Amino acid sequence: MASRLTTCTFCGAGCGIYLETSGNQVVGAYPSMSHPANVGKICVRGWHVHEIASSPNRLKTPLIKKNGKLQEATWEEAIGYIAVRLREIRQKYGPDSIALLTSPRCSNEESYLLQKLARAVIGTNNVDHGAGVYTNNSIEVLLDQLGVPASTNSIEGLAKSECIIVDSVDLAKQLPTIAGTVLRAKLNGTKLIVIGERRQRLAENADVFLQIKPGTEAVLYGAMAKVAVDTGMVDLPFIKARCRGYDAFLQHIRDYDLLAAAQTCGVTADAIQAAAMAYGKAKAAAILYSSGAESRDAQTIQSLVNLALATGQLGKEGAGIFALAEHNNLQGVCDMGVLPDRLPGYRPVANAQARAEVEARWKTALPAQPGMPGSAVFNPANAGKLKALWLCRYDPANTAVTGDVPGTLAKAELVVTQHLFLTETAKLADVVLPTTAFGEERVTFTSTERRVQIADQVVEPVRGAVPAWRQIVEVARALGADWKYGSSADVMDEIASVVPFYSSVSYKNLARDYGRQWPCTKERPLGTPYLFAGAGSFKFAPVARQPQAAADEQFPFTLVFGHSHYYWNQNVLIQYSETLKREYRSLLLDFPNGFVEINEEDAKELKIRNNERIQIRSATGVAKINANVTNEIRRGTVFMPFFVQKALKEVGAGENLKLVPVRVEKEATP
Ligand code: SF4
Repeated sequence: MASRLTTCTFCGAGCGIYLETSGNQVVGAYPSMSHPANVGKICVRGWHVHEIASSPNRLKTPLIKKNGKLQEATWEEAIGYIAVRLREIRQKYGPDSIALLTSPRCSNEESYLLQKLARAVIGTNNVDHGAGVYTNNSIEVLLDQLGVPASTNSIEGLAKSECIIVDSVDLAKQLPTIAGTVLRAKLNGTKLIVIGERRQRLAENADVFLQIKPGTEAVLYGAMAKVAVDTGMVDLPFIKARCRGYDAFLQHIRDYDLLAAAQTCGVTADAIQAAAMAYGKAKAAAILYSSGAESRDAQTIQSLVNLALATGQLGKEGAGIFALAEHNNLQGVCDMGVLPDRLPGYRPVANAQARAEVEARWKTALPAQPGMPGSAVFNPANAGKLKALWLCRYDPANTAVTGDVPGTLAKAELVVTQHLFLTETAKLADVVLPTTAFGEERVTFTSTERRVQIADQVVEPVRGAVPAWRQIVEVARALGADWKYGSSADVMDEIASVVPFYSSVSYKNLARDYGRQWPCTKERPLGTPYLFAGAGSFKFAPVARQPQAAADEQFPFTLVFGHSHYYWNQNVLIQYSETLKREYRSLLLDFPNGFVEINEEDAKELKIRNNERIQIRSATGVAKINANVTNEIRRGTVFMPFFVQKALKEVGAGENLKLVPVRVEKEATP
């Protein structure tokens, strides 16, 4: 038996784990006691992450669809076929008829090469990641206001926070080791404020639980800022030294009425005041929110950043803003430029100077028009526009809540997937390329605290599988590109020369300690646990006022959605881990066909029993689904987990994932 330190590749926490091997097999995983992100703790997914590689269902040979059936092919045939078809499609319909999407689980090396293939070889900016199919709000707001599209501080530093706000993310389910860090801080005296319409596990332990009406978060943060201004908690030296736009912010925030805001949000003014005082008075206070599929809208993020700036809760240990990513490499995928409007390092595609920097490095001209965003790719209105789709480790046919995935894939002339398994998407593809698994290749991931880490190779790849990054290189070469990468380390060396804040990252220095938290530059090669900025670098945004959606008499409930424990059954990696599969099966026992959560009091009024089949009716449609009667959800609100895709689409939530006003009815008798 041997064991080697590596990184759990399941969620964005980026926990340090040891993989235990016997012969050429990974047989176990256990936590690193000293890794700063998880210090001896891992969750049930981490304990079993190695099982996926040993699944007997792994793909071991490329497949090409012939006469409507996927058939085994050699690597030469598959790579040659993809190159020929891509060339034909580009010639006939133009480069923008091709789109390339990654999963937010793809490594930095895969992500970098795939977007380079799109831009430098094919000639399109049609690149995005799986979470971009929903939204990239967080990136744009943080770039605009802070200049950095990422969490500003480190998970380890949360132990030094005197106050932590957790906004609408169920940490205990999505990022369990971070939830553990928050709860340990709470036990040591940190004030915990939880915001959201669901009473999840952290809410049970909160000092202040603001169970607000959905869509009113921006108003809540505005009201908290108003309290900070009125009670003298504003950090004027910080604002003067580091921020722009304070006067305009102040002018607007003075108009805020705390009582009116409390009414809008559906909580008491006292509760808002208590939360604002705890946050504003703390020597260091942090705000944690989700930047993924259930992300806050742009105004909410602007409002929470405004609050942090006004109270000086940035640029020091234990403070900061955490744009949390549930997927293990959402941060890295975006850093690498898998975005339709941003090149590696977040350079705007439309900016000639920014483009020229990358063109000089890649020695080729790049397309100047931003590409089709992921949110548009599967929109039925665009069906038929895309003639070729490349999906790297991404399984939208199984996971996408929005759009028409099978319809879009059916209308394309070429669909390429790279995956470990014959996923629902792979079944619809024209070419399927089997990839290596966690532990079979040496690549890097960037966690939700900007930590760039190596996930090491501990065993030889399963026979027939090839690293996804190498497959991309082979296709680029077949299309005539002079790509010379011999190893994944060569790819990282190029990333360091293209992405400014990775400039001192190399496999050699990542292997020391526990990776590096970017920016890693010549001046600061070791990176930094928390970000600070020079004069005028931070910016206040205009103050938001309006809540997103208002329920009315016809549709008195607001439908919200998000992940639940049950979302696991959508996750392809879970499906191929025997232990985790057992877990989710047991969780689905009560509601095998999904559910909608409704508050106990609301259910009583409507005479709805637990597990009874009910109707959720919106202005555009009706979904029939079982009621999960619980006191977790706020009155007047109903919650559907993402995995009930059909029901979400039936009531129109699948269009843009905005809150939907609905009516709750007992099922009509036939
Ligand atoms: S919290 Fe995330 S990174 Fe840590 S062990 Fe669990 S799944 Fe892995």
